[in-house]
Amino acid sequence: MGKLDGKVALITGGNSGIGFAAAKLFAAEGAKVVITGRNSATLQTAAEELGANGLAVQADATDPASADKAVAAAVEAFDGLDIVFANAGIVAPTPVGGTELAIFEEVLKVNVTGPFFTVQAALPHLRAGASVILVGSVLANAGSPGRSAYSASKGAVSSMAKVLAAELSPRGIRVNTVVPGATRTPIWGQTTAEGMAQLESVLGRSIPLNRLGEPEEVAKAALFLASDDSSFIQGAEISVDGGAGGSPLGAPIYRQS
Ligand code: NAP
Repeated sequence: MGKLDGKVALITGGNSGIGFAAAKLFAAEGAKVVITGRNSATLQTAAEELGANGLAVQADATDPASADKAVAAAVEAFDGLDIVFANAGIVAPTPVGGTELAIFEEVLKVNVTGPFFTVQAALPHLRAGASVILVGSVLANAGSPGRSAYSASKGAVSSMAKVLAAELSPRGIRVNTVVPGATRTPIWGQTTAEGMAQLESVLGRSIPLNRLGEPEEVAKAALFLASDDSSFIQGAEISVDGGAGGSPLGAPIYRQS
């Protein structure tokens, strides 16, 4: 018996990285899964891997009409919604003194406006006991240079999740946030294994567990929040970051030996 038997999940950004790992895991646990993204090629590949339990919908997270379209497709195909994993996100450098308005606003639109309107679109169709999961980042609180828009957007996600939890509690809908640290996905822009290994050798030294996370490790936390195993968890955050957020001074760069 799967942890999500009989449930229907909408996963934005389900054609790559953490979202795709979650789509596969949720489907393996018995859910019907609707994934969104903009890239039709990766959407199709992901849909083929999900098979009859999956449906891919091309939808831009910055466009509320697109969110409505994705929700409508999910409801038509699978009759209702139980889980929203508002995962789609982008990162872009926005150093102060050298940033165009358009890129700053794009990051906020995808990462903040997107999840809000995804949840709003899903709301009329969410069944009692539904679970909404947003995606924050360890960078919300890290003071990482050149990341004003991204860090602000993820801080906003964490704040917004608490408001949504308050607003949706009367309907028995839970809203929680998974907070990844550096995770091995295409978001880092590395196209080769060597490039990724080099990045990891640098980044890992600032992570107590001395490595990047795997998208499947974040997906497992999302599964916990999506399932009834977390039935009394509301307005909470789960960090999946190898200790980077909670115990940063345990990182290899600070070790004496
Ligand atoms: P990823 O592999 O690049 O996936 C990002 C996903 O978001 C893709 O499926 C992408 O699909 C989708 N997306 C981006 N812009 C979109 C838009 N305008 N409309 C619809 N979909 C859009 O990166 P990831 O690491 O899995 O990221 C997933 C989430 O985790 C993001 O919110 C990210 O900020 C967060 N996160 C990641 C890390 C990390 O180190 N990887 C750490 C902390 C937090 P299309 O390109 O097809 O649109």
